Amino acid sequence: MSRAISVLGATGSIGQNTLDLVARAPEAYRVVALTGGRNIAQLAADTRRFRAEVAVTSEPALLDDLRAALAGSGVEVAAGPQAIAEAAARPADWVMSAIVGFAGLAPGIAALGQGATLALANKESLVAAGALVKATAKAHGARVLPVDSEHSAVFQALVGEDMAAVERIIITASGGAFRDWPLEKLASATPEQAATHPNWDMGQRITIDSASMFNKALEVIETREFFDVDPDRIEVLVHPESLVHALVGFTDGALMAHVGPPDMRHAIGYALHWPDRGHVPVERLDLSRVAQLTFRPADEARWPALRLAREVMHQGGLSGCIFNAAKEIALDAFIARQIGFMDMARVVEETMTAMFTANCHKAAQLTLDTIVETDHLARERAGALVPLACN
Ligand code: NDP
Ligand code: MG
Repeated sequence: MSRAISVLGATGSIGQNTLDLVARAPEAYRVVALTGGRNIAQLAADTRRFRAEVAVTSEPALLDDLRAALAGSGVEVAAGPQAIAEAAARPADWVMSAIVGFAGLAPGIAALGQGATLALANKESLVAAGALVKATAKAHGARVLPVDSEHSAVFQALVGEDMAAVERIIITASGGAFRDWPLEKLASATPEQAATHPNWDMGQRITIDSASMFNKALEVIETREFFDVDPDRIEVLVHPESLVHALVGFTDGALMAHVGPPDMRHAIGYALHWPDRGHVPVERLDLSRVAQLTFRPADEARWPALRLAREVMHQGGLSGCIFNAAKEIALDAFIARQIGFMDMARVVEETMTAMFTANCHKAAQLTLDTIVETDHLARERAGALVPLACN
């Protein structure tokens, strides 16, 4: 029997890699919903190709274009954030959450609300609303599976293990585009330079976040939320080859490392086939040709985002939501050339300083409404700091 699946963020890098795997076994899947943003041509082409029931764009202004592109297909079309959440709520066995940013949270919650297994690429959901995501999954008997490569790696290393025997979790970072740049040059780095990644081929925003390590900062918090480990037990190592994705250290001294090529189809495929292992067409590593794997500590002067992540974990509550919102605004401002590369961390830190004491400890009030409101307030606050950041 085929499995009903939906892909949220189908037109993006993760979404396209997901559909690549689905296309290799079309008889195994029935596609319910595909959602996208501005890339209407891709959304329409994939909707026809996979015979999805419904196609939704986040952009109401593009609804007519989507309707025209799907004319005669009999497919339902819709637009806007609410329509995306409704599409996510349609009964499905497995839903890929691959919208970028905070916009991915509400659709993911909607998917969990109908009991679907949520394959979670959208790390922002766990950073901004980890408690809510986990409580929703629990209330509906739904499961969240990691798709971020590091978290998939940890998840795989933990199969059959007792969490009480886990001493530490180490996630690796390539170091991004500026790993080897002199520190003083970073202030003048451009968005184009930051948007090139040495090893991974990803969306623009996560690639820039890799250069600033905001991506790794989000992932440290994601690790805490996903595996419920004490923040002091989570470490980051710079690993330029991007072949070891994560390691788990146990009480007997063993370190279990997950090694694989930098191809997201591995982690997506693991979530798609879980609890089994399917056939996934990624490169098979020849370690004799790789020859060497190198590791070094992550320098917090170069990557202040890592220090900020620890502060977020220390505060808890709504602090992850504030951190993520400020990061998204700072990234927008950097892409728009309103602030420099190193100013991003300043905007985020100042937003945290301004908002943490007032807002962080409302842990009991972590409803979607509270989180959306806090996200909004943090965006306003960070936005007001942008013009000041470069002075
Ligand atoms: P992309 O930018 O490539 O794709 C983002 C997707 O979200 C696209 O389908 C885009 O539509 C859609 N989208 C953009 N804005 C909105 C919005 N406001 N509402 C609804 N949909 C929207 O991102 P990635 O695929 O790189 O990343 C997706 C998520 O996965 C992120 O959370 C990222 O951190 C995470 N991730 C990504 C990895 C990677 O290798 N790429 C690795 C690990 C995690 P359109 O393009 O049509 O405008
Ligand atoms: Mg990752």
